[in-house]
Amino acid sequence: MNAQLRDETCEPVKMLRAGSWESSATERWGDVYNPSTGRVIAKVPLCTADEVDKVVQAAAEAYPAWAQTPVVERVRVLYRFRELILANFEELARLVTCEHGKTLDEARASVQRGVEMIEFACGIPSLIMGQCIENIARDVDCETIRHPLGVCVGITPFNFPAMVPLWMYPIAIACGNAFVLKPSEKVPLSAVRLGELLIEAGLPEGVFNIVHGDRECVDALLTHPLVRAVSFVGSTNVARHVYETGTRHGKRVQAAGGAKNHVIIMPDADVDQSVAALVASAFGCAGERCMAGSLALVVGEIGDRLVDRLCERAANLKVGPTDPSLADDDVEMGPLVTREHLERVVGYLDVGVREGASLVLDGRARDLRGDGFLVGPSVFDNVRPDMRVAREEIFGPVLPVVRVSCLDEALAIGDTCEYGNGACIFTRDGRAARQFKHRFNAGMIGINIGVPAPMAWFPFTGWNRSFFGDLHIQAAEGLQFYTQQKMTMTRWFETARDSHADPVWRSATGRS
Ligand code: NAD
Repeated sequence: MNAQLRDETCEPVKMLRAGSWESSATERWGDVYNPSTGRVIAKVPLCTADEVDKVVQAAAEAYPAWAQTPVVERVRVLYRFRELILANFEELARLVTCEHGKTLDEARASVQRGVEMIEFACGIPSLIMGQCIENIARDVDCETIRHPLGVCVGITPFNFPAMVPLWMYPIAIACGNAFVLKPSEKVPLSAVRLGELLIEAGLPEGVFNIVHGDRECVDALLTHPLVRAVSFVGSTNVARHVYETGTRHGKRVQAAGGAKNHVIIMPDADVDQSVAALVASAFGCAGERCMAGSLALVVGEIGDRLVDRLCERAANLKVGPTDPSLADDDVEMGPLVTREHLERVVGYLDVGVREGASLVLDGRARDLRGDGFLVGPSVFDNVRPDMRVAREEIFGPVLPVVRVSCLDEALAIGDTCEYGNGACIFTRDGRAARQFKHRFNAGMIGINIGVPAPMAWFPFTGWNRSFFGDLHIQAAEGLQFYTQQKMTMTRWFETARDSHADPVWRSATGRS
């Protein structure tokens, strides 16, 4: 297991440059916490622009040889990487839990999703093939082939320390690019451990690198002349900054932002099934998911029954520390990532009350001992769509409920939402489901399933201010993002027939 975690000695987290783990010379450092205990478990360097430059240079030096490596050899490294992740699966899941706070089951599921990203990337030889039309004009053939871009960068958020980085670099590397990862400075340890495994899998030095840091480090990456493309996942304001700065400096950018995901419960829905899915969607990963169900729109007379059952179930969720040394086996919801984030989330409870919403379940009332960043689930009823708790991303275990009279009213609320990641509906009415699917103003839709994050073979299709760019993250769009096409047109002169009479050709081919 990673030394930083085993000993809790607060060793400095290392950068990865050209295959070597290096200490940063920065004077600015951040704390990495174990959210279950509230203790600092590692110190993360906030790398300087000079260090960023050296790491990007290392990636640029490694790029040409990697781009020339046959794609089947490139993906063989990823096959070995996958095997190493599976061999170290439990350790990785524990690391995710210890630095992020999600339950061990949630951490396992997130590592498994990451493995699926690698499985997708292992199939890239079949997907990267070009296209050809023979004889597109008389004696002219035309083809396209896909080339890598060069140095690509990934900047990732705190909520999925292993999975979100794996959305990016397996595809980028399989396509022949070199990569620099800047993981969240709140949760760098899982990314570092995965980096160790990728090196062990035999990736040549410099093809994959890691720098750590905050805005200074990100801005150095966004403006670096050798960086060709930037993948970003994080909050909306930072996503917009990354998109605008990166594109202004000539980079290709895909930037996924925050979300407010609507869950519609129709009057004919099964209450038990809907509540179970709603609780999992809103309070899974303690609400720290861009695909959390973060606003319930309850239609018609089902409202009272649904809110009662929801509060009953949420109040009984087993909340507690998730660190394997402290956790009960049946813990269902863990702590938030930092005390600062906990205070921000709890602040929304006061905001909602001030705005006039009814706080029918107050997570602060739970008796939660210890120094971890814990709070119970909360539910607001009688929320108006214009309230801040209905419009803003809380990113914690707080579920606002808006009562509406019909599907059209729910769809109209969706139309005013600035975000557009996902939404789902619970109903037995096929026509309502179809209307919802067609009309709801978001890019990822669930029907009788919680807000659905697409698996590796589908793109992460956020809309509105949940995404800035053209090509989304994951799957075929990810492949397009990390490659550029080259078109070649070839004319075949009709010389063969003439050349039979040509003495030079005859002598050169021994037909004199
Ligand atoms: P964040 O925006 O604070 O940080 C994301 C990354 O940006 C980190 O690596 C961080 O170091 C860097 N960063 C932070 N502030 C910056 C600044 N001012 N300038 C440049 N870089 C900066 O996000 P977070 O709090 O780590 O993660 C939670 C957010 O991520 C939520 O809004 C969530 O919805 C979003 N998210 C979105 C998706 C998606 O697919 N749309 C997936 C996961 C998380």
